[in-house]
Amino acid sequence: MHVPFYRHDLGGQDADRIAAVLDTPFLTTGEVGRTVERQLADYFGIPHALLVNSCTNGAIAVLLALDIGRGDEVIVPAMTFIASANVVELVGAKPVFVDVDPATLLMQPEAVARALTAKTRAVMPVHLYGQMCDVQAIRDALGNRHDIAIIEDAAHAFEAMLNGDRPGAHSDAAIFSFYATKNVTCGEGGAVVTRHVELADKLRQTRLHGMSAGAVDRFRQGSYQHWDMIRLGTKANLPDLLAALLGPQIDTIDERLPTREAKAGRYEAALAGTAIRMPARVQSAAHARHLFPVHVPPAARDSALTVLANAKIGATVNYRSVPTLTYYRNAYGYEAADFPISYAWGEGTFSLPLFPRMSEDEQEYVIDVLHRDILPLATRAAR
Ligand SMILES: *Cc1c(COP(=O)(O)O)cnc(C)c1O
Repeated sequence: MHVPFYRHDLGGQDADRIAAVLDTPFLTTGEVGRTVERQLADYFGIPHALLVNSCTNGAIAVLLALDIGRGDEVIVPAMTFIASANVVELVGAKPVFVDVDPATLLMQPEAVARALTAKTRAVMPVHLYGQMCDVQAIRDALGNRHDIAIIEDAAHAFEAMLNGDRPGAHSDAAIFSFYATKNVTCGEGGAVVTRHVELADKLRQTRLHGMSAGAVDRFRQGSYQHWDMIRLGTKANLPDLLAALLGPQIDTIDERLPTREAKAGRYEAALAGTAIRMPARVQSAAHARHLFPVHVPPAARDSALTVLANAKIGATVNYRSVPTLTYYRNAYGYEAADFPISYAWGEGTFSLPLFPRMSEDEQEYVIDVLHRDILPLATRAAR
C-alpha cells in the first residue's frame, strides 16, 4: 500500500470555478478575492481580511506596514517553519529566538518576557501543528510595551480556537497559509486578518508594491486613476484564479475538522504509553489538527524515516530547530544548547500522514508499520 503524506480534496467543481474566472477581464486581484475576504472576516469575526499570495509574503507585507526593519527585533519561537524567522530577516530586522514549552512545543509568555529589549518591535507566536499559543497571556507579558505588535503565524491554525477565540482576536494581525498541504488550500496563497483599520489600509499598499490603488480600481471610473507610492511594498496579492478555490473550502472547513480529529485520535490511542511521544494537548483549545508530529529518541529518527519510505508511507520533519540550521548558526552563532527543548524535539520528530480523505485501511497500515517496525527501534534507542 502507498499512503501519501497529504492528498487534497479539490476536483471538477473547482476547475469550473477557475474556468469562470477565465471568462472575466481580470485574472488577478478582483471581485472573487473580495468575496473571499468578506467570508474570511465573517469566519474569524475580525473586521478586516486581506488575501495574499503566501503566508510568507503576507508576513513581509505586515512587517513593512508596521515599519519594522533595520535595528528592530522580532521575537520568534525556535521550533517553527523557517518562514516565521526568514520574514524578519528579509526586512532587515533581527529574529530573536525563544525556546518553547517542553510539552506543547508552543511559545511561552515567560520566555517572551525574558527576551524583551528596547529594540523589540514585534512578537510572532506560532500556533504550531494546530494548537494556539495563549496570545492574551503573551500580550500581558509585554506589560506596558504598547509599541510592540503581536503577529500570529496561524499557518497551521485555520480552525483553531483557544478559550473560544479564533486567531486574530487578541493580536494586531494573524496570518494564514493556503499552501498545498494546509487545511485550506489553493496551491499557494494566504490571508491576513486584523482588527485595525489603519493597518488594513497600509497592508492594501504593502501587498501591492506600495501602490495606492490596485489595477481593478485604477480602471474602475472609466477614466485612468493615477496612483501614488507612499511606502515600500512587496508583491503579495492573490490572483482571483486561485482565490476562486477558497470559497467552498471555507464554507465547509468546520465539517471536515471532526474527521481530522477522529484520525488524530486514532493515532493517539494507538501510540499512547509507548516510546513514541506526542505533543501535549492544550486545555480549552480546539485543535486544528493540521499535522500529526511524533517524536522518537533522536538515534532512531532517521531509521524510522527510512522504514516509512520503504513502506511507501509519506512522512516529513516538522521541524528541525531553526536557530541551529546552517544559515542562522552562521549569522548569529547559535548552538544546540541555546534552545535545548526545540533542538531535542527537532532531532527526534517526524510527521505522519493526516488528511480528511485518508481511509481507515490506509491509517491502519501506517499504525501497523509503526507498531511492527518503528516501536522496536524507538524502544531500543530509549534504553
Ligand atoms: C506553511 C508555513 C508558513 C509559510 O506559508 P507559505 O504560505 O508557504 O508562505 C509559515 N509558517 C508556518 C508555521 C508554516 O507551516
